[in-house]
Amino acid sequence: MLIVQKYGGTSVANLERMRAVAERIIKYKKEGHDIVVVVSAMAGETDRLIHLAKQIISNPPPRELDLLISTGEQISSALLSIMLYSLGYPSISFLGFQIPIYTTDLFNKARIKEIKGEKIKNELYQGKIVVVAGFQGVTEKGDITTLGRGGSDTTAVALAAALKADLCEIYTDVEGVYTADPRIVRNARKLKKISYEEMLEMASSGAKVLEMRSVELAMIYKVPLIVKSSFINSEGTLITEEDEEMEKVLVSGITYSRNEARISIYGVPDRPGVAAQIFGPIGENGIIVDMIIQTARPDGKADLSFTVPRTDYKQTLEIIKEVGKTLGAEKVEGDDKIAKVSIVGAGMRTHSGVATKMFSTLAKHNINIMMISTSEIKLSCVIDEKYTELAVRALHEAFQLENEVYIKEEN
Ligand code: ADP
Ligand code: ASP
Ligand code: MG
Repeated sequence: MLIVQKYGGTSVANLERMRAVAERIIKYKKEGHDIVVVVSAMAGETDRLIHLAKQIISNPPPRELDLLISTGEQISSALLSIMLYSLGYPSISFLGFQIPIYTTDLFNKARIKEIKGEKIKNELYQGKIVVVAGFQGVTEKGDITTLGRGGSDTTAVALAAALKADLCEIYTDVEGVYTADPRIVRNARKLKKISYEEMLEMASSGAKVLEMRSVELAMIYKVPLIVKSSFINSEGTLITEEDEEMEKVLVSGITYSRNEARISIYGVPDRPGVAAQIFGPIGENGIIVDMIIQTARPDGKADLSFTVPRTDYKQTLEIIKEVGKTLGAEKVEGDDKIAKVSIVGAGMRTHSGVATKMFSTLAKHNINIMMISTSEIKLSCVIDEKYTELAVRALHEAFQLENEVYIKEEN
């Protein structure tokens, strides 16, 4: 089998951890598999590098920032390769540009366009273990890019797809995907399997155990994906196509995201084209808008509120202030102390009552809902950031997620 294994920051946090990782890789190699390893930077390294740059200036030039933060993965991939060599296993490490992994030129959040697999295949053919630096790529012009925080997951799945690997394993510091972040909900339950679609909704609403884009790619290219622990040997969670059993579960998980900010623009003309004028420049800057609420006012004008990732808050506010001037808006303001809690479950497609239960649970705890959004299998509420943990725990309990609960058949 050809297996792509990705090890996250805590899994390669120090030389001792790296040795444990190397031993695990060797175990698979000994079983006769071809192994491509993707590594993240050692825990804390990416943050450290960003902090260094921000001590110089609050908004470092994105191209330079990418050149800087991509070095974290250069260190860990080379060290892991040296570790494998020291244990008697020939290995070779590659940076994104050496493969190459071609991306768009949107620095700090580039998207993978194409991966050339030949170099890796040649090395595998020669019996080597191939280590690839996660999170990074290169533009056609030759500039180094990064894929956004948590992007090594995406490198791994994209490589698995490009190499037509049999399996992609994501090794991390928890045992799999849980019904909620196990660091917040003590009795969260590990899921044996979950559908691509549910995982995508969980990732996009904050479950950082997998980066959203990686799930999207796994779904498109049908890459079998497993999340498991690099610390202990246990089964992990399989992310795969939806089956009948999954449909019978009303709610699979509760997620939260503190990476949220709200922007509101008041008193804009209520006529065709205005939304495009507002959201056009945001999209052009690669900023993803999540929830949108528009309210028509009796005076023929409209108020608009929407959410963006908190990391894009300042930039978006500046953009919208400019747009506000051209549109003659009355006021532009925002709030970055908000959080989003969401409920995800394939069973919501066919069963009602989830929304009522969610709203009443939040109400019971005196948590005000500022915004609501729904999709076929997800329901999200924006709340005050300070109630995040309370909300997640209360919802986890209300939907009895510590136990495996199936929807009762209705006669
Ligand atoms: P890595 O460095 O290995 O990429 P991350 O920190 O990015 O690891 O992701 C793993 C973390 O995701 C866990 O430590 C856990 O706190 C968090 N997490 C959030 N939601 C979930 C969930 N539903 N299931 C498992 N882990 C979750
Ligand atoms: N090192 C990068 C980060 O911290 C990428 C990753 O860990 O996946 O975001
Ligand atoms: Mg991660």
